[in-house]
Amino acid sequence: MKELLEKQTLSFRFTEEQEMLRKTVREISEENFKEKAREIDKTHRFPRENFELLAKLGMTGLTLPEQYGGGGMDCISYAILIEEIARVCATTSVIIAVHLSLCSMPIAKFGSDFLKDKYLKKLAKGEILGAYCLSETGSGSDAANMLTRATEKGDFYILNGTKAWITNGSEADLYIVFAQTNPELKHKGITAFLVEKNMSGVSFGKLEDKLGIRASATCQVRLDNVKVPKENILGNVGDGFKIAMMTLDRGRIGIASQAIGIAQGSYDLAVSYAKERDAFGQKIINFQAIQFMLVEIATEIEAGRLLIYQAANRYDQGLDFTKHSAIAKLFCSELATKAANKAVQILGGYGYTTEYDAERFYRDAKITEIYEGTSEIQRIVIAKNIIKELTENIDK
Ligand SMILES: Cc1cc2nc3c(=O)[nH]c(=O)nc-3n(C[C@H](O)[C@H](O)[C@H](O)COP(=O)(O)OP(=O)(O)OC[C@H]3O[C@@H](n4cnc5c(N)ncnc54)[C@H](O)[C@@H]3O)c2cc1C
Repeated sequence: MKELLEKQTLSFRFTEEQEMLRKTVREISEENFKEKAREIDKTHRFPRENFELLAKLGMTGLTLPEQYGGGGMDCISYAILIEEIARVCATTSVIIAVHLSLCSMPIAKFGSDFLKDKYLKKLAKGEILGAYCLSETGSGSDAANMLTRATEKGDFYILNGTKAWITNGSEADLYIVFAQTNPELKHKGITAFLVEKNMSGVSFGKLEDKLGIRASATCQVRLDNVKVPKENILGNVGDGFKIAMMTLDRGRIGIASQAIGIAQGSYDLAVSYAKERDAFGQKIINFQAIQFMLVEIATEIEAGRLLIYQAANRYDQGLDFTKHSAIAKLFCSELATKAANKAVQILGGYGYTTEYDAERFYRDAKITEIYEGTSEIQRIVIAKNIIKELTENIDK
């Protein structure tokens, strides 16, 4: 019991490595991603060079095992990485989050030695970019209701179907594709496959024209009789849905971190503007109405960050963290939208124009309430876990 309590105790101090990571990522993001964020938002150009720079600095494999060329760092470090990038460029943060958390980590966790040798080293070094293909046009929240099918044929499975809304879609090299191998078993019939871009029959839809994170190359991934060797199955046949859900549990820590980064970026911008802007003969930061908006956001950012670290810490300790990551994502994503909205308000007319980043933060923030499970789905996950805890306590 004592051991369990010790395990659950949160440390409120970062390690030296984590402090250093935050400083480094903040500097490279400010120097390299900040100015460009506006340009790529306008043009939709996928910022490949941002990914390459992160690769050069060892960030594309930050949390992957050292044995496969990764940095072996913990989930709190991952949260720091994503937050600091999102503080200036939400698009770049989701590109790396999907690569690292949704594609590479499940291979590290569920992949055979063969798959790890073949793909993980390249993913860690950023030589290849990863993507995660679960959603379809007709099934997002209800992901198990997918139409993509995989049919066994000798040493291969033949995949047919269309995955929708795929981040890094046409830019990625490797895709985790979830396909139904036994429809009668419903979600227990789903299997995860590693599909390479250059496999015959893989093609892409047009880039989606989005409200925010406009350069993250979201598109359909189409599979037309794609012949995937059985050795490219992740985990076992029928494990796919479990792998998809477990991956999203951890992924949500990343989206919560993206959201807190957007909230922090919005807050920083609002503070610096309020310190400079004059109205009625004084700086607007002197008005209590402005101070109260800032205080509300500052308070909630502190709270949100602690929720993220709690979830990440539980993951690092090997404790159940499903409820905690859903709580962190729910709170931080709704906060991101609120913080960005307040930033636009504090900047007044300028906040509504592209001259400042407030309007981009506002547009970028919204997606955090939608992908990797909408806010409604987070509420369902949290409720299910609370009920489970209550039942377990009654049973005891
Ligand atoms: C920019 C972007 C990037 C994305 N990237 C990826 C990616 O890389 N890989 C991937 O697989 N997917 C990706 N997605 C898909 C994303 O995860 C889904 O859009 C999301 O899960 C919601 O699914 P949906 O769009 O089908 O909405 P729906 O599931 O149709 O939901 C519509 C509304 O109904 C609500 N709703 C649904 N079910 C319930 C319920 N049981 N109770 C209460 N309310 C409910 C939802 O909360 C929502 O408000 C991306 C989406 C976008 C927009």
